[in-house]
Amino acid sequence: MTLSLVDFHCHLDLFPDMESAIRETDAAGIYTLAVTTTPKAWPRNNELARGTRHVRAALGLHPQLVGERFNEISLWDEYLPNTRYIGEVGLDAGPQFYKSFDLQQRIFVHILQACARAGGKILSVHSIRSAKTVLDLVEQHFPLGRGRVVLHWFSGTKSDARRAADLGCYFSVNDAMLQSDRGRALVLGLPGDRILTETDAPFTRINGRPTVPGDVAATVTALSTLRKIDAVAMAETIRVNLRALLVSAEC
Ligand code: MN
Repeated sequence: MTLSLVDFHCHLDLFPDMESAIRETDAAGIYTLAVTTTPKAWPRNNELARGTRHVRAALGLHPQLVGERFNEISLWDEYLPNTRYIGEVGLDAGPQFYKSFDLQQRIFVHILQACARAGGKILSVHSIRSAKTVLDLVEQHFPLGRGRVVLHWFSGTKSDARRAADLGCYFSVNDAMLQSDRGRALVLGLPGDRILTETDAPFTRINGRPTVPGDVAATVTALSTLRKIDAVAMAETIRVNLRALLVSAEC
C-alpha cells in the first residue's frame, strides 16, 4: 500500500542535518511544510526547499520567541512578498510565555493584517491556551478570501473548533493529539474536509525517539481507526484536503 502523505507542520531545520532531512523527506514523496521559528532561518530553509517537489518553507516568528525577538518582525516583513507559506506564528498563553502575551498579540495582529493585505497566504498557527483569542484576531484581521489559516496542534474546545471551521480554518492533526480521550473527541468532531496531518517534528516523540515526517503514516492510521474510514481513503482525503486548501487560498 502506497500512501501519499502530508506533514503540514514540522521543523526540518531543527534536525541534526537539515539538508539531508529536506532531501530525504522530498525523496519519500511527503508533502511537507517546513516551518521556521524566526525569519532569520527562512532564507536557508527556502533555498533548500525551493528545488524540491514536495517540501515548502514557511516564514515564521514563533510566539514563544516573540518576547525576545519581536524586533525581527521587520525582517519578517521584508521576506513576506517572497513566500506563500507563513508559520510558525500565533499565540502562546502558557505560564512560561504569558508575560509576553500582549506583545505576542500585537505581533500576531501585524502578521494577520500584512497577510490579509498581501492575499493568498497560508498560515500555520500555534494557539496554546489561546484558541479563543487566536480566533478573535483571525476573525477581526484576516477575512476569509484573503488567505487561509491552518490551526496546528489545536487544543481548544469543541465549540472553538466549530467556530474555527466556520472561519474557514483547517486543522493539522498530530499523533500526540490522539493520545487522550479529550483529544480524540475533539478530532472526531472536526469536519472531514478540513483535516490535514502533521508531526511537529522533532518536538513530538514516537517509540522513544523524535518524530520524522514519515511518522504521519501512523497518524493517518490512527485517524482512520478513529473516524472509521479505510486508511487508504483517509490518506486520500488528506491529499484532497491539501489540494483544496491550496486552491482556496488563491486570490
Ligand atoms: Mn511547531
